[in-house]
Parts: sequence; C-alpha cells; structure tokens
Amino acid sequence: MSSTELTLDQRDIRFAAQEWLKIGQLSESEKFAEFDQDTLDLMVQEGIRFAIDVVSPTRSESDREGCRIEDGRVKVPKCLHEPYQQSYELGWASMGVSQEYGGMGAPATLGLIVNEAMNGANLGLSMFFGLTSGAADLIDTYGSDSLKQKYVAKMYQGKFTGTMCLSEPQAGSDVGAGTTSAESVEDGVYKIKGSKCWISSGDSDLGENVIHAVLARVKGAPDGTKGLSLFVVPHTRVNDDGSLGDWNDVTVVSIEDKLGIHASPTAVLNFGENGDCLGWIIGEEGKGISSMFMMMNGARIFTGLIGLSLAGAAYENARTYAYERVQGTNISKIRDPEAPRVTIVEHPAVRLNLINMKAKVEAMRALLYYTVFQLDLELIAKTDEERQKAQNMVDLLTPMCKGWCTEVGLDVVQVGIQVLGGVGYTKDFPMEQLFRDARIAPIYEGTTDIQALDLVGRKMIQNDGILFQQLMEQFSQSIEKHREHPELSEIFKTFEGHCETLYETSLGSQEVLKTRGMEGVALYATPFLMYISSISAGWLLLQQAVVATEKLGQIKTENGVGDLADSSFLKENEDALFYANKLKTTRYFVEAIIPQFEALLAGGRKQNFDALEIVF
Ligand SMILES: Cc1cc2nc3c(=O)[nH]c(=O)nc-3n(C[C@H](O)[C@H](O)[C@H](O)COP(=O)(O)OP(=O)(O)OC[C@H]3O[C@@H](n4cnc5c(N)ncnc54)[C@H](O)[C@@H]3O)c2cc1C
Repeated sequence: MSSTELTLDQRDIRFAAQEWLKIGQLSESEKFAEFDQDTLDLMVQEGIRFAIDVVSPTRSESDREGCRIEDGRVKVPKCLHEPYQQSYELGWASMGVSQEYGGMGAPATLGLIVNEAMNGANLGLSMFFGLTSGAADLIDTYGSDSLKQKYVAKMYQGKFTGTMCLSEPQAGSDVGAGTTSAESVEDGVYKIKGSKCWISSGDSDLGENVIHAVLARVKGAPDGTKGLSLFVVPHTRVNDDGSLGDWNDVTVVSIEDKLGIHASPTAVLNFGENGDCLGWIIGEEGKGISSMFMMMNGARIFTGLIGLSLAGAAYENARTYAYERVQGTNISKIRDPEAPRVTIVEHPAVRLNLINMKAKVEAMRALLYYTVFQLDLELIAKTDEERQKAQNMVDLLTPMCKGWCTEVGLDVVQVGIQVLGGVGYTKDFPMEQLFRDARIAPIYEGTTDIQALDLVGRKMIQNDGILFQQLMEQFSQSIEKHREHPELSEIFKTFEGHCETLYETSLGSQEVLKTRGMEGVALYATPFLMYISSISAGWLLLQQAVVATEKLGQIKTENGVGDLADSSFLKENEDALFYANKLKTTRYFVEAIIPQFEALLAGGRKQNFDALEIVF
C-alpha cells in the first residue's frame, strides 16, 4: 500500500462481486457458461494486476508529456504505446467483445470491475478502449455486413481506434443543433461536410487508422435530433481487401490544451474541407440518435465508473498517507506538552473526511456494480418479464450512475487533497492529477444537469412512472423484510424515513409542475437526482450490510467470539474487520451522507424559485 501508487480496495471489490451479487451465477446461463466464480475471481485479480503493474506506471508520465500534433497528426505520449498493445493482446481492452471477433465474451460486470482499475491506472489510456469499442459496437449492431467486415474486428483488436463525434461548437448539450451535413452520392455512401469539436481520442498514432462514428444531417432532413443520421467516417479509407487506401479528407485542426486527461487527445476535426470526405451510413437515415441512445446506457454507466475509479484510488492513497503523516497530538492530550506526536489518522477531523470518502466509494461501487449486473441479467433472462425488469432498472439507474457517481467521485477526490494537506496540492502525489482528471466526468457524455433532465423528464414518467414505482417497491420490500433485523432494524428505520421523504418530494414536484410548470421542476432536477441516487445507493449498501452481518455472525460462531466491541478479535481477523467496517460505512451513509444530499433540496421543499426570478 502506498500514498503515491495505485491501490484498489480488492476486498470490497471481491465482496461486492462475489459475496453480495454472486456474479458467478451468470455461468448458469449458456452465454456465460465459461465464467464461473473461480474464473471470474482469477480474471479480476489478473486484470487488476495488469492495471497496476503495466498501466499505472504511465499515469503521471503521460499526464506530464501530453499529446501533440506533428505534421497534422496526433502523437500520444510515448509510454502509452506498450500498455496499449498489451491491453489488446491480453484481452483487457476487449473483454465484452464476442469470441467471434477474438474477444473474451465476458459479462459486462467483469468488464466494469477491471475497468475500475484501468481508469484509475490511466484514464487517458482507458478512454481509447471505451471509445473504440463504443464505435465498433455501433457498427456491429446497426451497420451493414460490409461495414462490419471492414471495421469491427480491427477495432476490437485495437488495430483501428474509434471515436464518437456528436459535439459541434454550437451543439453541445443540444446535440440536435448539429449542422454537419451528409449528401448522398451512391447507395449508403455520403459526402460529409462539417466540423466536430471536443472529440476524445480524435486522432492518434496508437492504431493504423481512426474510425469516426459521426452524427450528420442528410440534406433535406428535419431539424433537431430526428434529422440526424450516423456514419462511419474513416480517417483513411479502407479498401475492400482490408488494405488502407486514400486519405478521407478528415483534418485534425487542433487539440485542446485542457485541465486534465492530458493523455487523451481532445480534437477539433474538420470533415470534407476539400469536398472529398466520404461517410458510410450506419443503419437508416434519421435513426442516428436512436442508435446512439441504444448504446447510451452502457456509455453513461462506464462514464459514471470514472467517478468510482478515481475516488477509489484517492481514498486508498489518502488512507495510507493518514497512517504515515505525523502531525500534532491526540486531541485528548492537547494540553500535555509532553504528549507524543501522532499520525493524522488519529485526528477526528481527518477520520470524518476518511469515512466520508470510504462510504461514498463503497456506495458508488454498489450502485455501479448492481446496475451493470442488471445489464448481464437482461442478456440471459429466461422470460420477457425478467428481461423487462432488469431493463427498467438499468434505464432508471443509468442517469444516477452517470450523474451521481461523477459528481461524488470528484467530491471524494477533492476531500482526498484535503487529507493530504499541502502535498496533496503538488505533483509529488497523484491526488492533484486525479482531481484534474475527475473534473471532466460530470461534463462529457451528457452533463449532470442533462442526466437530471433525463431522469426527471423521461425515466421517472416513462410508462406512467412504472420505473420509479418499481424502485420504490423494491425499497419497501427490503424495509419490510428487515424491519425486525436484530442488528440493522434501526438503520432500516432511518432508511424508511428517507424513502418517505423521497416519495413526498416526488409528489411535491407534481404540485410544482402545476403551479410553476416544467421550469419549476427543472430548477431542482439536479438536486433531486443527487438525492434519489444517494437513496438508491443506500438501499444497495443495506443489502450488503445484511450479507455482512450474516458473514460476521458465522465468523463469531466459528471462533467462539461474543461481543466484538470489547474484543481484540477484529485486529486479528481481516474478514471480521471488513464486515464490521461494512456495517459502519452503511450506517454512516444512511444516517449522515444521505441527509447531505437531502439538504440540496431544501430550496425545492420551500418552493423557493428565486433562481428563476433574480436578474443576474
Ligand atoms: C475533454 C472533453 C472530451 C469530450 N469528448 C467528447 C467526445 O468524444 N465526443 C463528443 O461528441 N463530445 C465530447 N465532448 C463534448 C461534451 O460532451 C460537451 O462538452 C458536453 O456535452 C457539454 O456541452 P457544451 O460543452 O457545449 O456545454 P453546454 O451545452 O453549452 O452547457 C453549458 C452549461 O449549461 C448547462 N446546460 C446546457 N443545456 C442545458 C439544458 N437544456 N438544461 C439544463 N442545463 C443545461 C450544462 O449542464 C452546462 O452546465 C467532450 C468534452 C470535453 C471537455
């Protein structure tokens, strides 16, 4: 363990995946038959080891070197090339890819766990993997056979990198304002013209070619998102025999000089400056956004993962540092000039910061793992009802994973800097880079405010609010089941209070809709997203706490231990300590952290609309 190197809480990862979700059950399906619990455990360990040993040594170096343009093409930091190649050779960059394309065909949950480590090891590098597989998935799902044949395998193997080109200078959150145009030249082939900005992995020397998935408007198509179609636009054209052909008139105009993720080139790209940029349509005209949306859940959840990855890394570094740094005396001996100096982990204020970090990290892990596990369950569901149930859960939880985890992740990292004090602000420790890198996650892939609108304006009212009702029912069932729980009944009671407040808030928002219209509801949409997400995460932590009490009970019985409070047993038994800690983080989360998010809604509860009326 180190305060400067990447460490992951592998015990909590194992607990969440194996003891709580029991992801090994996926191997009962034909699709994931090879992935029994032992195999999954081994792969998680190996994936994390790879991230720590091979990828994380590049984190700081690639941040400092950054990307540059030479002769019109992007060069990424030199140290990225080797881990990039190895990630594909060993399969870590393409875990979910089907075996037909040479991938592992692994459950999404396994991919998520390994990616937790890969993001923490070097977010700039792992973004290449995510974007390439996202673009390849689009072609594989909606593209013609010839497009699939030309591009997909090479992308999944990392020979070609991929991008997602939505944003334009005037079209950020409002993707439908895009003006990049497409003019049909022959069946399925179009001339593309326009400029895209903020394109992650927009160009690089990591692969032989860059394949852009571009949203553009076919001449004569309606305004807004409905008029957008999706195209494969290679930087260099690919001949029918797979060899590289002519340049496709894609110009790398510039790359951004930005706060963080320096290893990830964020490019401005011009398509068709010379009138010779060809794009091949993916799917039908006018279906660009709906195709993108089909992939959106996965992309958004995996962006939410960035919050967990960087916060988890920050917590581990902060915890280690708190045991190393000697400063001041224990508060109970403050008047004693002879009192020994202590490590800062003894200071209550530092402990409060650490428990906030730890509880939030575990809550994010619970929310993300659970949501992605539903994606896997959806794939192997035996009945339509099971499939629909899992899909509903994913639909509702996705904006929470993206919105809440990216915001909370950033918050945790900034508290990490505080735990380190001055050195946390310097480049001698990774905390400042984690902070700079984490700052992008609440912005791209739809800002937090856009996630909140998706939740409140779409998901919560979809099918007469069935998704929200189902979630509330799940909360109620858990409360009923554990109301008399010998150790957790009090926490469940507190949780029940939060659920009641949540329900009242949702009713209150219907009232606001009548009196102040959508504007009034939208005003507090982001605080609402933060609040409901914290309750959802709290619900999952409570499920974990139930498992932890059972496990702790078994250990106590096996070892003949009575009350843990007056026993040194926890110091000797790592498992017992882990479960006992899980009960504490859960209680702290439910009693002290959910109210932090509830407080964000204070203005809404007072029906305070000053923000709408004030003149700025
Ligand atoms: C480093 C980086 C990498 C990126 N990578 C990619 C990429 O690979 N591909 C790609 O296509 N794009 C990418 N983007 C673009 C990114 O998705 C956009 O920056 C983001 O969607 C926000 O758009 P914008 O910057 O135009 O901000 P704006 O849309 O102008 O938003 C500004 C502010 O207004 C708020 N806002 C805007 N509209 C609304 C609304 N209707 N309701 C409430 N609040 C609103 C936003 O929440 C935000 O706070 C990247 C951006 C960055 C910085």
